[in-house]
Amino acid sequence: MNCVLVVEDEQHLASGLRFNLEAEGYQVEIVETGEEALQRLVPGPTKFDAVILDVMLPGKDGFSVMSEMRQAGQFLPTLMLTARGHPDDVLRGFEAGADDYLTKPFELAILIARIRGLLRRREWVQASLNSAAAPGKPKHVFTFGDKADKSLNFDLLELCIRGQVFHLTLMEANLLRYLIDHDGEAVSRKTMLEEVWSLQEDTDTRPIDNFIVRLRRYIEDDPKRPRHLLTVRGIGYRFVA
Ligand code: CA
Repeated sequence: MNCVLVVEDEQHLASGLRFNLEAEGYQVEIVETGEEALQRLVPGPTKFDAVILDVMLPGKDGFSVMSEMRQAGQFLPTLMLTARGHPDDVLRGFEAGADDYLTKPFELAILIARIRGLLRRREWVQASLNSAAAPGKPKHVFTFGDKADKSLNFDLLELCIRGQVFHLTLMEANLLRYLIDHDGEAVSRKTMLEEVWSLQEDTDTRPIDNFIVRLRRYIEDDPKRPRHLLTVRGIGYRFVA
């Protein structure tokens, strides 16, 4: 049975989530503060399979919890609940390492569908982990660099750069996948927001730059003089293998 940790201080909403998730066959545990959430999630491994994390919490907020989880190597699929009217919160959440988000108020049916989607994705990653050793299985690995010493495994969401392995969040991997799919083409920040994050509104595109900075730190020999993730002035970015 899949176990979901709900981090939400509004008791009315938290018990509504519990009721609906349990009706769908999930096991649910609720905590009301970020500090309690971190106690249950870090250090891993934990009994949880996914996390629903509210942004507005007493004490440590959802963004801090998110980034502390990821910094501690806790990569559990996490959906953040952000406040309507704060589109920047969405990108802040992704920057911190969230895998998906919903703006409040939301339809419970949609939340359940999103959680199912995250867990499916997780099962898929685990299945490919198990089959990674099987010979002859096609693996979704993209290799690049002058000496072909850099690779990205889309199944495991892992970057391997000259022998060193970096774990990517779903959105980091999706952004990189999008740029690789458009190898050599300049892609605008607005296009990335629409295609990778499915954000249509006029959102500040600067957080995209933070994603790129982070990805450059992983894949570039000298992040200040990138050779793979190039800036296209006035437009956005271009990936070169
Ligand atoms: Ca709250």
